[in-house]
Amino acid sequence: MKVLLLAPCRGGALTPASRRTLGAARKLGPVSLLPVGEGWQQAGAAARHLAGIAAVLLPEPTTGEALPPEELAALVTTLAHSFSHILAPDTTLGQEVMARAAAICDRGAISGVTAILAADTFQRPAHAGRAWVTLRAREWPLFLTVRQTAFPEETPDPSGEEAPIIALGPVPRLGLSRRLELTPRHQEGRPPLEAASVVVGGGGGFIAGGNLEPVEALANCLGGAVAVTRAVVEAGLAPGDWQVGQTGRVIAPRLYVALGISGSFQHLAGIKEAGRIAAINHDPGAPILSAADWGLVADMYRAIPELIALLQVAADQGEVREANSCQERANASSEVASPSACREKAASTTSVRDASSAADDSPRAIT
Ligand SMILES: Cc1cc2nc3c(=O)[nH]c(=O)nc-3n(C[C@H](O)[C@H](O)[C@H](O)COP(=O)(O)OP(=O)(O)OC[C@H]3O[C@@H](n4cnc5c(N)ncnc54)[C@H](O)[C@@H]3O)c2cc1C
Repeated sequence: MKVLLLAPCRGGALTPASRRTLGAARKLGPVSLLPVGEGWQQAGAAARHLAGIAAVLLPEPTTGEALPPEELAALVTTLAHSFSHILAPDTTLGQEVMARAAAICDRGAISGVTAILAADTFQRPAHAGRAWVTLRAREWPLFLTVRQTAFPEETPDPSGEEAPIIALGPVPRLGLSRRLELTPRHQEGRPPLEAASVVVGGGGGFIAGGNLEPVEALANCLGGAVAVTRAVVEAGLAPGDWQVGQTGRVIAPRLYVALGISGSFQHLAGIKEAGRIAAINHDPGAPILSAADWGLVADMYRAIPELIALLQVAADQGEVREANSCQERANASSEVASPSACREKAASTTSVRDASSAADDSPRAIT
């Protein structure tokens, strides 16, 4: 088995999604890495030290950094015949490239793979995560996108071996589309949504107020990222790439705090792998409260400032000592509080309902 991995890069490094997809690719065989995107050369050179990399394939430098999906697909198809599996992260880019490349090669593509059962057999979620489907492929090469939350990030190879770099020829330029402008709507000063260990989600409860300021304030306090539901995106309060759920991103933070979110199964499909879920909703019948480990039945416009004040007191009193990568990246105006402090403080609020008295690590049932 030989595996080709299309590995998006950012800032001269593989993205977390690429590193996790590498974790999946390694299970299938030696991996030839095809880094693409911002800083792909630097990222490719650094990736030579990762375990499982057999070679790094570097596209010709003159082709520029932002190749559109159709040109990346054309590049992948020129290489595909040498590989048994072609993998990409299950991101928008990965899906766009793999679908095109598979179609050009007259093959199918399997998207959102969460488990590799055999070289030709894969598992993926179906029906918004309420069922698993097992698929066996019959034709080679196989084109797969991999759900990043299902696999661990790859680490440097302890053997210290360096994979060779293979320079590729010019990428086929199709000229079908050209990027006119890129206007990033990053969550400035916050960790990337998929990599954040704390994520604060805002829902339709904020639409009437016309902004997500309380959500952002709590996220800043916790050093977390902000997520939203589709209702919020459709109301124009947040960009589409903040959306979590069946048709949005799938995240796996240690703590997800759901504010003004009803808990539709489409939204829950994106947070199933969260370590713990805390929710504030004024409707005791909201489904999110059944899915949550901690539920607070309250008006969030009152509860959120109180929670932030408690967290700040805890930080000021030095009660909060835990530091994690999220907090280090948090914008920095002040000390920030940890998820554990959030939990402790939230639990001390009288109307909190603890739905996980056992507080174990078993997966929650979200139906
Ligand atoms: C094919 C398909 C795909 C979809 N994909 C997604 C997806 O990927 N992600 C997604 O999120 N949705 C998705 N949806 C939409 C989904 O069905 C729901 O409509 C959406 O998740 C609802 O968002 P919400 O819970 O934020 O809003 P609402 O349903 O409006 O809920 C708002 C909640 O806020 C609470 N609330 C209001 N005010 C307050 C207050 N002051 N204090 C406390 N609580 C308050 C309310 O009690 C309510 O529970 C999809 C739908 C379809 C059909």
